[in-house]
Amino acid sequence: MEVVGLLCLAAAVLAWGFLWVWDSSERMKSQEQAGLLGGGSRSLLVIAHPDDEAMFFAPTVLGLARLRHRVSLLCFSAGNYYNQGEIRKKELLQSCDVLGIPPSSVRIIDNRDFPDDPGVQWDTQRVASVLLWHIEENGINLVVTFDAVGVSGHSNHVAVYAAVRTLHSEGRLPKGCSVLTLQSVNVLRKYISLLDLPFSLLRTRDVLFVLTSKEVAQAKRAMSCHRSQLLWFRRLYVLFSRYMRINSLQFL
Ligand SMILES: [Zn+2]
Repeated sequence: MEVVGLLCLAAAVLAWGFLWVWDSSERMKSQEQAGLLGGGSRSLLVIAHPDDEAMFFAPTVLGLARLRHRVSLLCFSAGNYYNQGEIRKKELLQSCDVLGIPPSSVRIIDNRDFPDDPGVQWDTQRVASVLLWHIEENGINLVVTFDAVGVSGHSNHVAVYAAVRTLHSEGRLPKGCSVLTLQSVNVLRKYISLLDLPFSLLRTRDVLFVLTSKEVAQAKRAMSCHRSQLLWFRRLYVLFSRYMRINSLQFL
């Protein structure tokens, strides 16, 4: 019994510690980020498939909205791997709406150049030129996308990163346009939900977004729009995923 008591006490102290660190970090980070990211920016979230925005980027989308960014979304495929492209396009629009991105700010590219298929390498220059056109057309000054690992290592995620990286390193992005990439974490950290917060605080390079419980509910509502994808393992993902609660990002 004594051991159980001690364990309970340790758990309570740990929980209190997390909450204290979270609260103070939120205050500190929100001030830093306001300066770093500026208000009123036009941000573009670039993803490969419908559901990437809710599964991986919900904290970023909601965090940027808090900083008064105007967020739009560019999705490079309709997610047609199982011939569900038409359904998935509608689900993406609904999910974006829940996250505060209106249908008029969502662009879904649905063509043969960029199939939803981990076995197909998308042409980096082709992705880059479509993306650049979109950035210039919409006066974008902040691009947000995957990092080189692409969260899950999916080659379509990595292809989007490679294109942004190319535009950035070749100096082809418009002046004043920055790029933020989502830091991928290892599989252990991926599924420990908010318990990852201390690691995120230590390992975040530039920008950290942590959702409040109300915002987590909003992210879950967005994910539930992707009805065609809600298989049992994705329901578990929603319960335990750190990415639906915390996003760490770094500038290129
Ligand atoms: Zn994806």
